[in-house]
Amino acid sequence: MNLDRSGRDPRVRPVIELRGVTKVYGAGEAQVVALAGISFAIDRGDYVAVMGASGSGKTTLMQLLGCLDVPTSGRYLLDGIDVESLDEAELTQVRSRKIGFVFQAFNLVPRMTAQANVELPLVYAGIRTSERRQRAAEALAVVGLTDRARHVPSTLSGGQQQRVAVARALVTTPALLLADEPTGNLDTHATAEVLSIMDGLNASGITVVIITHEPDVAHHAKRLIQMRDGRVVSDDRQAPPDGRPPLMGPSAPALAGRGGLGWAR
Ligand code: ADP
Ligand code: MG
Repeated sequence: MNLDRSGRDPRVRPVIELRGVTKVYGAGEAQVVALAGISFAIDRGDYVAVMGASGSGKTTLMQLLGCLDVPTSGRYLLDGIDVESLDEAELTQVRSRKIGFVFQAFNLVPRMTAQANVELPLVYAGIRTSERRQRAAEALAVVGLTDRARHVPSTLSGGQQQRVAVARALVTTPALLLADEPTGNLDTHATAEVLSIMDGLNASGITVVIITHEPDVAHHAKRLIQMRDGRVVSDDRQAPPDGRPPLMGPSAPALAGRGGLGWAR
C-alpha cells in the first residue's frame, strides 16, 4: 500500500478535498487573507485535528468545510461533489444531513430541555414526533445523559451542555462531525468526557475534524494539520496516545452496536 505523508491512500476517494482554497474577507485596505491557498484531502473515517495560533484561519476553514461559507477561490469537493455546483437548498440539505457541528459555546436553546434541543435538527428535517423522540433519546444515551433529558441547559454543567450539543450534532447521523474548539470552555474532566465521546464516534465510522488550541486535545486525533497565517505548515499522522497502532481505531467500538442511528454511511 502506498500511503502519502498524511497517511492517505491516494487511490481512495476522499470525503473532503480542498484544492488551492483561499478566503479573503473585506476589500481594499481592510482586506484580510484568512486562507492563503489550502490543499488537502481527508478520507472517510479519519480523525483529524487542526491546530494553529489564534487568527491562523481555523474557524474560517471549518466554516468552509461545513458549507457555512464559500471559498473566494479554489475548489472544495465534498464526497466528490463540487460544493460550488450546489444551490442554496442543496447546501442546506448537505449541512443538515451530512454534517454535524459542535461549537465552543455549546449554542443550545436556553429554554428548551436537553431532549428538545437534540430533537431540533430533526424538527427542521421534518421527522415525525415519535421517531424524533426515539432518536433524540438514543443520541442522549450515546453521550451518557439519559437521566438529564428533561433538564434545561442552565441546570447542566458545561461538560453536560457540550455533551447535549454533541448529541444534537449526531442525531442526524452525519458522515462528518466538525468541532471548533469543542473543549475550549471545559475543565479537564469534562474535556476528557467529551473527547472520549468523539473518539467513540470516530471508532464507529464517523469522520471527525476537531479544531483546537490544546495539544492534549489534538493528541486524540490520528492526523494533525498545523496552520499558520492561512496556510498548512505541517500535516502528519500521529502515534495514538495509548500506543495502539495508527490508522486503526478500537476494535470493538462501544457505540457501533447501538443500532437505530446508522452511523457509518
Ligand atoms: P482562528 O479561528 O484560527 O482564530 P479565523 O479563521 O477566525 O482564525 O480568522 C482568520 C483571520 O481572518 C483573522 O485575521 C481574522 O481576524 C479574520 N476574519 C475572520 N472572520 C472574519 C470576518 N467575518 N471578516 C473579516 N475578517 C475576518
Ligand atoms: Mg477560531
